Amino acid sequence: MIAKVIVDIPTGQTDRFFDYLIPEKWEGTIEPGMRVVVPFGPRNIQGFVVAITEESAQTMKLKEIKEILDVTPVLTEELLQLGHWLKETILCFLITAYQVMLPSAMRTTVNKQLHLLDSNGLSTELSTYFADNKAIKWEEISEQLNLVKEVRHAVKNGQIEVIYSVKEKGQKKKEKVVKLEKTKEELQDIINDIGNRAAKQKAVLSFFLEHNKEIASSTLIEKTKSSRAIINTLITKNILTEREVEVYRDPFSHLEFKKTEPLLLTTAQQEVIHPILSAIEMEHHQTFLLHGVTGSGKTEVYLQSIAEVLNKGKEAIVLVPEISLTPQMVHRFKGRFGSEVAVLHSGLSTGEKYDEWRKIHRGQVRVVVGARSAIFAPLTDIGIIIIDEEHEGSYKQEDNPRYHARDVAIKRGEYHKCPVVLGSATPSLESFARANKNRYMLLPLLERVNQTALPPVEIIDMREELRGGNRSMFSTSLFEKMQDRLEKKEQIVLFLNRRGYSTFVMCRDCGYVAQCQHCDISLTYHQTNHKLKCHYCGFEENMITTCQSCGSEHVRFFGTGTQKVEEELGKLLPHARVIRMDVDTTRRKGSHEKLLDSFAEGKGDILLGTQMIAKGLDFPNITLVGVLAADSMLHIPDFRSSERTFQLLTQVSGRAGRHQLPGEVVVQTYTPEHYSIELVKEHDYLAFYQQEMMIRKRGGYPPYYFMALINITHKELVKVIQVTEKVANFLRARLSQDAQILGPVSSPISRMKDKYRYQCIIKYRNEPELTNSLREIQQHYLNETDLHLSIDMNPQMFM
Ligand code: ADP
Ligand code: ZN
Ligand code: ZN
Repeated sequence: MIAKVIVDIPTGQTDRFFDYLIPEKWEGTIEPGMRVVVPFGPRNIQGFVVAITEESAQTMKLKEIKEILDVTPVLTEELLQLGHWLKETILCFLITAYQVMLPSAMRTTVNKQLHLLDSNGLSTELSTYFADNKAIKWEEISEQLNLVKEVRHAVKNGQIEVIYSVKEKGQKKKEKVVKLEKTKEELQDIINDIGNRAAKQKAVLSFFLEHNKEIASSTLIEKTKSSRAIINTLITKNILTEREVEVYRDPFSHLEFKKTEPLLLTTAQQEVIHPILSAIEMEHHQTFLLHGVTGSGKTEVYLQSIAEVLNKGKEAIVLVPEISLTPQMVHRFKGRFGSEVAVLHSGLSTGEKYDEWRKIHRGQVRVVVGARSAIFAPLTDIGIIIIDEEHEGSYKQEDNPRYHARDVAIKRGEYHKCPVVLGSATPSLESFARANKNRYMLLPLLERVNQTALPPVEIIDMREELRGGNRSMFSTSLFEKMQDRLEKKEQIVLFLNRRGYSTFVMCRDCGYVAQCQHCDISLTYHQTNHKLKCHYCGFEENMITTCQSCGSEHVRFFGTGTQKVEEELGKLLPHARVIRMDVDTTRRKGSHEKLLDSFAEGKGDILLGTQMIAKGLDFPNITLVGVLAADSMLHIPDFRSSERTFQLLTQVSGRAGRHQLPGEVVVQTYTPEHYSIELVKEHDYLAFYQQEMMIRKRGGYPPYYFMALINITHKELVKVIQVTEKVANFLRARLSQDAQILGPVSSPISRMKDKYRYQCIIKYRNEPELTNSLREIQQHYLNETDLHLSIDMNPQMFM
């Protein structure tokens, strides 16, 4: 028998099957989807078995497989096929597609062990291996055919488990915990003895009257307002003992999940869940677009759909954006489905991710909640796939393989004949257009569950403020409202768009933003040569010193940092307690939750932050949301900048007045007339959609046209331009007249790590020759040293 193997070398030459002989002892043992070690040239390398055949077209003498790495396949038949589909649609190597489907721990396979779970019915021979301990090394038996077969059987039966022990990168995290060494009575005596001489010691000891468990020393110090010295004193007195324990990296592991029961659905929820349930019932693939405003009860619809899937004995995948994977979010799923849920998120260490994956692989959990890559969860009987916040850019992977989780979800949904539900308050234009063409079924959920109105939005023209003599970053209206809320002891959220991209140039008097003469895109300021450039067509001009619209000299790069806002707040509202949340204050693991928790507990009046506070905040006391620089995203040179602005402003607005207290939103902008800002006021997604579609049509952008982006980098500028030019010309000759090929043009980040970066953008509708042409280009430049060429189908970013 012959195994077709795809080897673990991601290059063009090796992106095909190689045939290997299956040694007789392993016939019937090796299956597609297993990893093996094969001789390749002078070395032995890893590979995936993708098929088993009887004949080989290879003329050379076949070599034998050296080693089997898996006892059961790690990739299912479905995932093997999915890899081929990824290779075809996003032009990646097959091996790259397979690798992204598995946890990174499995790429190392340093050490494989067999753990005995249940010895019932195992042969004496195999049992003797496990005589002294519960675990043996795989190598001890891998050469013995009969044992390998038996182990395989036992693994399938759940009697033996295969464990890859992973060398964790970095040190294990440890923390100190203290424990009381006295009984309650003894403790009471000690406290009485101390009297009032050492108030701090007393505070610490009193704490243990109520809490009898081990507690992290740092937490104890914080809770009792004591100090390290006090704890040390109590340890020397033998009242407390201290030891080091390993900290679990899973930020959700310490949480307790209270069981929740399904809610009685509202009429609107019943209407949208009905078609989903019947698709589940009929095992029918259909993609649904659940367009539901914030607070409309989408999550409850997800939960009850999943419940039905589990009822039928099937499995579910739920994708949420990484930044929404908060304890609050996890709680909603674990609260309903308990230990049926595995959570895959970036907070897990390599080993923990692998543990979660293993639980899924072994069928111990049936609901997988996770960020993008959870779409590859090795479930075998999927009954529903849900993508929450489907418009989020993070569902597209920005490096190889450049897949979009939404596309993968639909592909898997087709295979499993199950519904795929895309949910959002502001669907991507692509998805909404598909729903309009009935390729997806639109499910509207346009009212909040508790009937609370969406908050009124006031748009403030900051140019007017400036004319009126207000040079501060707060408009008069926002400032007065902030004072009002501080007096009423209600909470405020201040949102500042992104980490201040100060690359576009704007007139502070009239709001004019320097734009390209040939495209509807703002110019980017290049500090190196003091020029303004268009990243779509290559147009450039010198940096302007006066406004081309009104002649004013107040032309500035845009961007105010959160730190600056915090300073300003300190001056203007010195009594307000500000919690700042941005990349700087949330660098440490867990700090994100900590800051949010303290805001939830009312330890702050104003939550000031970037993108990361836009989502998921659901606090009853927030009655004012202020957006300081609504425009800053609008001028990022990307045709999706209006869409992202509208989505973000809608998200942020949704944070106010979600409960009893009515909320209000103030949006400060220099371009109040821009539709992506104006329409937030009306909460009018449909109007935005229509307007934006017109613009996309005019400019030939998605969803009217498809796009592909070729990025080329090299350390020599001349070379990179030459190659990009050649590539563009090659495509011009190959593709139809309908296709637009833009470039060569320098990338928005024109040099990175000392390499120049150039782009070529293809806009097209129907180009049967495109994929082949692109693959030819890819192949052609594979062997160039130093020159790197990457292809991004349906790019989400142009940097
Ligand atoms: P979305 O996901 O659309 O933002 P959620 O599912 O978070 O909305 O629902 C908003 C709030 O309404 C939540 O507090 C949720 O518990 C509650 N809710 C949802 N559905 C119902 C229902 N049928 N009856 C009562 N409360 C509900
Ligand atoms: Zn241009
Ligand atoms: Zn001006």
